[in-house]
Amino acid sequence: ADKILSRVESNDPFFSLEFFPPRTEQGAANLIGRFDRMRAGGPLFVDITWHPAGDPGSDKITSSTKIAGTVLNYCGLDTMLHMTCVKQTKETIKKNLEKTKNLGIRNILALRGGISPNADADESWGYQEGGFNYGVDLVRFIKQEYGDAFSICVAGYPNGHPDSTSYQDDLLHLKEKIDAGGQFIITQLFFTAEEFLTFVKDCREIGIDCPIIPGIFPIQTNRSLVQLTKLSKLSIPEEIQKVIEPIKDNDAAIRKYGIDLATDMCRTLLNSGKVHGLHMYTLNLETATIQILKNLGLWCQDVAKPLPWKTSANPERRE
Ligand code: FAD
Repeated sequence: ADKILSRVESNDPFFSLEFFPPRTEQGAANLIGRFDRMRAGGPLFVDITWHPAGDPGSDKITSSTKIAGTVLNYCGLDTMLHMTCVKQTKETIKKNLEKTKNLGIRNILALRGGISPNADADESWGYQEGGFNYGVDLVRFIKQEYGDAFSICVAGYPNGHPDSTSYQDDLLHLKEKIDAGGQFIITQLFFTAEEFLTFVKDCREIGIDCPIIPGIFPIQTNRSLVQLTKLSKLSIPEEIQKVIEPIKDNDAAIRKYGIDLATDMCRTLLNSGKVHGLHMYTLNLETATIQILKNLGLWCQDVAKPLPWKTSANPERRE
C-alpha cells in the first residue's frame, strides 16, 4: 500500500491501468495474457473494477476479487480493487474486505456504486438510515475496521457527479471522503485538460490537498464512447462529435483519432506541472493505451522484472 501511495505522492511520472472483470473463463485467460504483456510497460498498479452486482460467483475467475488476486499474486502487479457499498449489508462488505485482505490486496477504491437510471431514485438507491449510502460510508468503515491496513482511493468528478445538487456541493462531499481517510483521488473521464485543471484548482481552494489522478479515456470506438458517456451521464463535446460522425463505422480511424486526442490532452496535463501520473481506462484493450503511453514517453519507464518462470521476458515488446 505504501509503495503505491508514496509514488503517487511523489513527483515521479507513473501510469496505472484499469480493467473490468472478465465475463467468461476464456475472457479471463485472454485478460491474464494482456496483464502480462502490459506489465512490460511498468504500470504502477492495475485496477480491477467492482461488478455492479457486488462480487457474484466470488469463487470464479470472473469475479472481481478473484481476478484482482490473480493480477497481484500471479502476474506480480500491484493491484487496486474497486469496491462499492450501496444496497449492501455490513456483513457482506466485511466479508469482501476480509477476502481482499487475505489475498494480499492493500489498495481499495471505495465507492458508493451506481444507481439504476430507470428506477425511482430513492427506491432503487435503497437509502438505509445508518447504513451505506455514499462512498464516504465505505471509507469510514474501512478505516474503522482496518485502520491503515489498506490505502484508500476515492472517485472525483471534474464535471460534478450527475446526481449532485451542485458542482460545489459535490466538491464538499469529495472533501468529506478525504477527511474520512481517502488518500488520493482518481477522476471520472473528461474531454479537455481544462476541465481537469479547473477541478484541481477548485479542490485545492477548499482544502483538498491529496494527489488527484486524471482518469484518461481513450476513444476507441463510437459504440464504447456512446455507452460510456451515457453511463457516466456526460455529453460528448460538439467538436468531437463532428469528427466522429463521418467516421463512426471505421473503428481504425476512430482509434487513431482517439489516440491523437488523448495524447494531446495528456501532454497538456503533464506540461501543466499539476499532473505526473495518468490512470488509463483501458476498456480491457491494449493497443490504444500502449500507444498513448509510448507517445508520452511513459511506457516502459520502469522495466518490470520477468515472471520467475518465464525465460523469454518478451524483449520484443519492450521497444
Ligand atoms: P459518492 O461520493 O457517494 O457521491 C455520490 C453522490 O452523492 C454525489 O452526487 C455526491 O455529491 C452525493 N453525496 C455524497 N455524500 C453525500 C452526503 N453525505 N449527503 C448527500 N449527498 C452526498 N461503479 C461500479 O459499480 N464499480 C466500479 O468499479 C466503479 N469504478 C469507478 C471508478 C471511478 C474512478 C469512478 C469515477 C467511478 C466508478 N464507478 C464504479 C461509478 C460510481 O460507483 C458511481 O459514479 C456512483 O454513482 C458514485 O460513487 P462515488 O463513491 O464516487 O460517489
